[in-house]
Amino acid sequence: MSSATLAGTSAALQLEQECGGVNDSAEAEQRLEAIGEWLTLSCAELPRACRYRLLNECGMNAFSLPGRIYLTRGLYARLNDDDLLTAALAHEFAHLVRDDSLRPRCADEREALEREMLADAMAVDYLRRCGADPTAMARLIEIVAGEQPEGWATRRIARLPRPAVPDDPRWLRDPGLRRFEAGQRGGGLGQ
Ligand SMILES: [Zn+2]
Repeated sequence: MSSATLAGTSAALQLEQECGGVNDSAEAEQRLEAIGEWLTLSCAELPRACRYRLLNECGMNAFSLPGRIYLTRGLYARLNDDDLLTAALAHEFAHLVRDDSLRPRCADEREALEREMLADAMAVDYLRRCGADPTAMARLIEIVAGEQPEGWATRRIARLPRPAVPDDPRWLRDPGLRRFEAGQRGGGLGQ
């Protein structure tokens, strides 16, 4: 066991305890494993040996630690289509690739937002490469908007790699996404 794995194991136990323990849903774990496998087969740089667990907490959140990706029960319940679930895993995989859980805590909110935006951009790339809908990242951010600091969701969506989004016909059909596009044109999003 590497020191990173050991640190990950102890952090995992702490996280599981803080979030009400793990929820043993075989169906959810199988679904997460299937999507995780699809992502790791499509993107060779993603770590293969990863466990996927649900946390009992009802709030919407996701976490990654070396070798583990967690979604709260509350988030999982909202991600009823596979593209959204793929987006959530892709974002957490991006944190794993960047070793974000092993880095020091962010000094301030700006640094934390920057970390999220980098993971979002990588996630869109993973979504494209595995053939999932790349606009799912924007939809996911919209779903968890209320769980984040004020203004983060709009800024994160505005920073997503643009060609992936407007070129997709789903963007044109989805009024929620069009609203964000219009917001971006309105300016004031700190480009
Ligand atoms: Zn994140």
